[in-house]
Amino acid sequence: MSYVECLVCKECGQTYEAKALHVCEFCFGPLEVRYDYDAIAANISRESIARGPLSIWRYRDLLPVEGDQYVSLGAGFTPLVRAERLGNALGLSDLWIKNDTLNPTGSFKDRVVSVALSRARELGLKVAACASTGNLANSVAAHAAWANMESYVFIPANLERAKITTTAVYGGKLVAIDGNYDDVNRLCAEIASEEPDWAFVNVNVRTYYGEGSKTLAFEVAEQLGWQAPDHVVVPVASGSQLTKIYKGFGELYRVGLLDKEPKVRISGAQAAGCSPVATAFAAGVDVIRPVKPDTIAKSLAIGNPADGYYALDIVRRTGGSFGSVTDEEILDGIRLLAQTEGIFAETAGGVTIATLAKLAREGVIGKDEKTVAYVTGNGLKTVEAMRGAGPTITIDPSLDSFFQFLNSQRSAK
Ligand SMILES: *Cc1c(COP(=O)(O)O)cnc(C)c1O
Ligand SMILES: [Zn+2]
Repeated sequence: MSYVECLVCKECGQTYEAKALHVCEFCFGPLEVRYDYDAIAANISRESIARGPLSIWRYRDLLPVEGDQYVSLGAGFTPLVRAERLGNALGLSDLWIKNDTLNPTGSFKDRVVSVALSRARELGLKVAACASTGNLANSVAAHAAWANMESYVFIPANLERAKITTTAVYGGKLVAIDGNYDDVNRLCAEIASEEPDWAFVNVNVRTYYGEGSKTLAFEVAEQLGWQAPDHVVVPVASGSQLTKIYKGFGELYRVGLLDKEPKVRISGAQAAGCSPVATAFAAGVDVIRPVKPDTIAKSLAIGNPADGYYALDIVRRTGGSFGSVTDEEILDGIRLLAQTEGIFAETAGGVTIATLAKLAREGVIGKDEKTVAYVTGNGLKTVEAMRGAGPTITIDPSLDSFFQFLNSQRSAK
């Protein structure tokens, strides 16, 4: 049972059957999933959702699958925490953190992979593959192992050590490429056209992959008691996640799950060392000029973002903004979140929090706006970025040494 009507080109409106397609044959525009929203509205309710599993699959009517044999490690339904302490530090009175560090492989990518591989299996595709900046690699390898699918995962060779280990452990093929993510992605597009039976989650089944990100909007609305927030801050790599969060809030209203039309301002967060979309926003132009990434936020290091244009358009139309933050600010953001809310985020989370802080300081985010910051990856993946962190002191195992230290601490107060 599926409510999917077809795939539709975002540029020219040409429609296609819901197969493993991602670009329009006529204009090369990206394809998007179109649903029969009236039929969904007639069948879905807050109660029917509440009866579903505690995962993204509670929203299956709004996801592009036919059956219920999901490829699932249990992604989603992560905590939405009221961030009072961080809010106090930033002067925001109604701040919330969507803590997606707690997904099965430690990042929001489990949402998109679960959807992409579920659909891929329905389409008869046998091999799971991806071009990854790290988190996608972890997630594809893990889900493929669970689904008993062969996997080929392609990464830039200079990735964080932890992300290599936490991909390799699942036993698939891990191919490191001498080049940056954009080189890896180009190679994967070439391989995808040679191997039509492979499911490249972010290439030939990207249309389905993207839909998984809508659950970031669905969950936030449900967790806020079925209302949309006023403002969200979203990290931007390819821009896919940001565009689908926007789509998600709109769909909830369309199928009658929200009483009021959502007016969510959507702001994007990028690292200064890879900020092609934030740069276009600041310059007031539509053209996104590709860059060569140089940042510790490797999971966001896409220099030529596929959905950048659409993300930029949504940020402008919703009255949001863009922040770009330096590596130093990213580390400060990671520490601030850890030391106020007890959440250890990876560098992408540091980008989100540092951008949140910047937009709050500039008054772009109003003090009383109900604001949700999406923290999308776990700090254990990028521990090497926190090189300065270590013991407060190293001492002999003696009471004397300890009290000498403790007294120095007390007198310093
Ligand atoms: C991939 C990723 C994102 C955003 O990705 P998009 O390509 O913009 O959808 C955000 N945070 C983390 C941790 C990621 O791995
Ligand atoms: Zn088209």
